[in-house]
Amino acid sequence: MSGKSQAPAAVGIDLGTTYSCVAVWQQNRVEIIPNDQGNRITPSCVALNETERLIGDAAKNLAAVNPTNTVFDAKRLIGRTFSDPLVQKDLRLWPFKVVSHDNKPMIVVTYKGQERQFAAEQISSMVLFKMKEIAEAFLGSTVKKAVITVPAYFNDSQRRATRDAGIIAGLHVLRIIVEPTAAAIAYGLDKMSRSSSKKNVLVFDLGGGTFDVSLLTMVKRVFEVKSTAGNTHLGGEDFDNRLVDHFVEELKRKHKRDISDNPRSLRRLRTACERAKRNLSFTAHTTIGIDCLCDGFDFHSTITRAKFDELNLDLFEECIVHVDKCLKDAGMDKKSIHEVVLVGGSTRIPKVQQLLEDFFDGKELCKSIHPDEAIAYGAAVQAAILTGQGNHEIRDLILSDVTPLSLGVNVNDDIMSVIVPRNTTIPTKKEKGYTTIKDGQTSVHFSVYEGERPRASDNILLGKFHLSGITPAPRGVAKITDCFEIDADGILKVTSKDRASGNKNGITISHVKSLLSKKEIERMLKESERFRIEDEELRNKFAAKNSLEHYVYRTRAAFMTTKLGLKLPAADAEKIQDGIKSAMEWLDEHQAAEAHVFEKKTKELKSVWDPIIGKSSRVIRRKKWWSIF
Ligand code: AMP
Repeated sequence: MSGKSQAPAAVGIDLGTTYSCVAVWQQNRVEIIPNDQGNRITPSCVALNETERLIGDAAKNLAAVNPTNTVFDAKRLIGRTFSDPLVQKDLRLWPFKVVSHDNKPMIVVTYKGQERQFAAEQISSMVLFKMKEIAEAFLGSTVKKAVITVPAYFNDSQRRATRDAGIIAGLHVLRIIVEPTAAAIAYGLDKMSRSSSKKNVLVFDLGGGTFDVSLLTMVKRVFEVKSTAGNTHLGGEDFDNRLVDHFVEELKRKHKRDISDNPRSLRRLRTACERAKRNLSFTAHTTIGIDCLCDGFDFHSTITRAKFDELNLDLFEECIVHVDKCLKDAGMDKKSIHEVVLVGGSTRIPKVQQLLEDFFDGKELCKSIHPDEAIAYGAAVQAAILTGQGNHEIRDLILSDVTPLSLGVNVNDDIMSVIVPRNTTIPTKKEKGYTTIKDGQTSVHFSVYEGERPRASDNILLGKFHLSGITPAPRGVAKITDCFEIDADGILKVTSKDRASGNKNGITISHVKSLLSKKEIERMLKESERFRIEDEELRNKFAAKNSLEHYVYRTRAAFMTTKLGLKLPAADAEKIQDGIKSAMEWLDEHQAAEAHVFEKKTKELKSVWDPIIGKSSRVIRRKKWWSIF
């Protein structure tokens, strides 16, 4: 636990596809916060069952026995439509059910015996809620503000939906920042860019299920994502699968056993393979041992790092192809890259590091920060900056956001006329001139869009307005100026002015606005609060049950190990021993009772037993029995 003198205002959360991580700026450094299991990363996994909702490690541990109600990969769904081809592809791989509700994907689970549907925002909000709880337990104070990270390729809907998830989790989302920027901040690369010379950073992020490579440029501490590439289905799980296939074949060949249709054996083998893979990052060979893998057969084998590399070489090489593509998309040569940053657990694989180093002609890679913590680390620094915390080192670091998509208006029958190009640093103000298309035209309808498609209606419509009172003139003579102004919070103000008449009109569009309606957010917030209360009730119930069990068992232990019974009058000893027996039977029958029932029972037993045990306290103390109470 930390020193808790000053409550920090905000945390940084890396909301990952497979794992999430939370960090905070404290005592002039970043602290990665361990969860209740002592782990510094927490599975982004939620399980709902007959009695409770589990999040993180507890949920992941249940995945094997409760596959249809254990939800993961919500990040692959968030902000997407049901008909999105990527969603359709993923659907086939998930053990849980997803249905369409007005083309919004809804995850179907059975909770407390009832079928329930959850939006991806809600599942992600549960993960964020868990990360908030982890931080609160560590800091001993309420955490309300957070910076949350998203992949650089996330579009506006995905970013907004992530922000909504934060709101539903009861967080004030200070800012959504992109993962490669967070990783670059973690390495202090922002400091390199104090000068006006441009620095180029390549962020190589290979996690459990996704691979992203991003190219950032930094000029005077302003980060700009120049290009992104990758594969949304490439990562540690694929390397595990290759190992599984290898051992399945070995089992067939050497032991004449086929487990390819045995899900339980395959699952156990996969867990062992993942462990072996991790070991191979540090040793040249490792062993695999699984007792009773199938039909009482104990499987033992070995694997070398060289074999593991050979099994996965094409996948590792695919990563390098994406790096090359990312550079080409940005129109850059590999020699112009100043730093290569490693992010994601799978970048610990030596062969991956070697291929990358070779590609960059022996360049040393940035890998001193734990690859699975770098993003949360950077997010925590950003959170400290935004809340005015931190030392002078970071206080003067002003990170600017950029517009993730181009902004513009529709002209000439649905052509997208871009006014603010994608990746423009905000705050910004840009103007563009337009004119009329008909003689004597006195009004114009403007629709404001966001996106990269040439046809305006293929982009996202942000709002509409009407400019009237234009001084009549022949077509093409009127001079109308559209001005797009975005402030530091991403609020877009659009104004349109006819120069001749001076008439103006416009709209303000909040870029932080939600994808969900206010009503939907309120409903989800209420639901989230209900879950919180239910979780709390369950925790109280377990605490009360535990306290009763503890009392009964320690009394029993006193009888068994210290012969307490012999020191008590026979009638009292018998009374307690009978009481212990019936209390244990009662506990067996009342496993699911409410907290107040356990509390009542504890009180009841204490009122009978404590005075009797108290009578013998002199004996107990003399005999040093006290320590077991
Ligand atoms: P992430 O999504 O960044 O948390 O990465 C998770 C992936 O990293 C999982 O597939 C892990 O098996 C993998 N991983 C973690 N540690 C290691 C390691 N030492 N060697 C190889 N892979 C690892």
